[in-house]
Amino acid sequence: MEKGHIGVTTENIFPIIKKFLYSDHEIFLRELISNAVDATTKLKTLANTGEFKGELGDLTIRVKLDNKKNTLTISDQGIGMTEDEVKKYINQIALSSAEDFMEKYKNQANGIIGHFGLGFYSSFMVSKKVEIFTKSFTEGSKAVYWSCDGTPEYKIEESEKTSRGTDIILHIDDDSKEFLEESKIEGLLKKYCRFLPIEIGFGKEKEWKDGKEVELDKDRIINNPNPLWAQKPAELKDDDYQKFYNELYPYSEEPLFNIHLNVDYPFNLTGILYFPKIKNNLDIQRNKIQLYCNQVFVTDSVEGIVPEFLTLLHGVIDSPDIPLNVSRSYLQSDSNVKKISGHITKKVADRLQEIFKNDREQFEKKWDNLKLFIEYGMISDEKFYERAEKFALLKNTEGKYFTFEEYQKLTKENQTDKNKQLVYLYSTNAEAQYSFIDTAKTKGYDVLLMDGHLETHFINHLEQKFKETRFVRVDSDVVDKLIEKEENKEIKLTTEQQARLTPVFRSQLPEKANFIVSYAGLTEAESPVIITQSEFMRRMKDMSALGGGMNFYGELPDSYNLVVNGNHHIIQKINTDLEEKILTEIIKIDDKIKPIESNKNDLEKANKDKKDEEVKQEDKDRIEDLNKKIKDLSAKREEILTTYGKENKHVKQVIDLALLANNMLKGEELSKFVKRSIELL
Ligand code: ADP
Repeated sequence: MEKGHIGVTTENIFPIIKKFLYSDHEIFLRELISNAVDATTKLKTLANTGEFKGELGDLTIRVKLDNKKNTLTISDQGIGMTEDEVKKYINQIALSSAEDFMEKYKNQANGIIGHFGLGFYSSFMVSKKVEIFTKSFTEGSKAVYWSCDGTPEYKIEESEKTSRGTDIILHIDDDSKEFLEESKIEGLLKKYCRFLPIEIGFGKEKEWKDGKEVELDKDRIINNPNPLWAQKPAELKDDDYQKFYNELYPYSEEPLFNIHLNVDYPFNLTGILYFPKIKNNLDIQRNKIQLYCNQVFVTDSVEGIVPEFLTLLHGVIDSPDIPLNVSRSYLQSDSNVKKISGHITKKVADRLQEIFKNDREQFEKKWDNLKLFIEYGMISDEKFYERAEKFALLKNTEGKYFTFEEYQKLTKENQTDKNKQLVYLYSTNAEAQYSFIDTAKTKGYDVLLMDGHLETHFINHLEQKFKETRFVRVDSDVVDKLIEKEENKEIKLTTEQQARLTPVFRSQLPEKANFIVSYAGLTEAESPVIITQSEFMRRMKDMSALGGGMNFYGELPDSYNLVVNGNHHIIQKINTDLEEKILTEIIKIDDKIKPIESNKNDLEKANKDKKDEEVKQEDKDRIEDLNKKIKDLSAKREEILTTYGKENKHVKQVIDLALLANNMLKGEELSKFVKRSIELL
């Protein structure tokens, strides 16, 4: 027997390792099984090249728990190690990497997990003692026993082991008892080893016999050694991808598309990505892309490794170029990882382009579910935008789909305004904005349906991209003003008549929101009164609601335009009725105001060039007196008009109709409207 000293300068580094690597204790299992897989794969390679001439036999890696001895054993039947190799690889390499690590990170605990290659050594995070029994595949080699109890001392001697391969026995530490639980180990194996390329057995298969569960003499294999992404795409069918999706994410809905990644230059990368059907936020958080390195699970937090918008996808990515034992911040700054990210974006775009080209019908069918990813990608990734603009679709309210180019062609002629701007009309809710959509259509305009989660942002983004094009929501103005053409229609109401009607209409408006009354010369075919909300204000409020940092707008009350169609016969009738009933009264007041006003104007004119202190007090008092008179008379005039308006059922009726068209008439007001409608019939 030989005793030696591991070349570690610090007295006892194990407690330190334990402490610093605390959060990641469980990865020891991944490390040891990876070593076992490597040893087995190497043997297979040697058999292929003829360097190993013996029987490969059973290559299953076995994981065993012994609750009496408190041990966890990992056994492989791979290449094994000779005594020299144990000395070299375990004592010098594995353990000396601990020394390097101590040297490097003495003063900075934070960087530790990120850069320290853990390997075999990580077994000490959970063990008070580790033993190795190993026998090399080389002919005539003697089996070796090695043990170390957590001090920098190790023991090495010959062993009785007769079979090829390596057993690693961990004597689990008292503070790591959880790793003696079957369910815990099973969970870890499923997490890290699910797709390792060599079969891993944990316990035995069980069967129900005569009402009892009995163990069979057959390993219970916990992994799928030949996962789909490692197979050739040409040999796979849609169904295989579907099944694999269910294997990855049981109980999830069928995905929309899959992309099989298979790259060998300039780096190695395989994987399968799925576009899922996302129904709510929960789905986004639950199923994630899993990152593998040679079929060893690395992480499922891929932020920073794949582009942000692709983190919404599901599936797996496997690359030997993704370093295993490093922190995420390290991964994100790794230049290989960056290249991988760019490459995945390209592949995803290529695949979408291909589906679009080969099967546009299918692409359109899935677009509504797909658009979240694509729009998100186009907003956040310039490179992706450049690729996606060829296949991204716009959908109109009739359910037809257009590429950007097609849509521009469709609308260019009819929807270009007098300033040469192309106006894209859109609706965010085809039902609520029905009457506006309908009016726009009678003008021959097309209306897009933009009802997705991201579309406020997406519209802003497209406006920056498209030349001389503007998006306008279909209810943000009366149809003639949505897309302003040269011809300006005359209003059949004088400014005086308009001024009289304004308080009449205002008297019947809901108090909760702000309304600005204005007049337009629309046709008889259009409504007598229309309510619109300015595109600008609405967008600012939408952005503020989405957390776009525009809180100022969020706090403002809703503000609308009440547009009175001066050319509509009902409005004409209301005006005539007003003139018949109260015009004489109003004119009387106007006749009183007029001389007072001219009197006041004369006085002001006379004093125009004087400084305040030069104006006679008498004149000042007089002006103030005249102002008061005008104010009183105007108030009286306003009151007459308001009283008239409040009693006018037709005014109320046309306003309610406009509110109704905007989904703004509710509750008591709605039921009053119905009663009034019957009365008026
Ligand atoms: P790494 O695996 O990163 O090289 P480790 O510390 O895990 O570092 O292992 C050190 C070396 O010990 C390995 O490179 C390998 O040569 C040897 N080794 C570890 N485990 C086994 C095993 N189960 N069978 C054969 N050799 C092994």
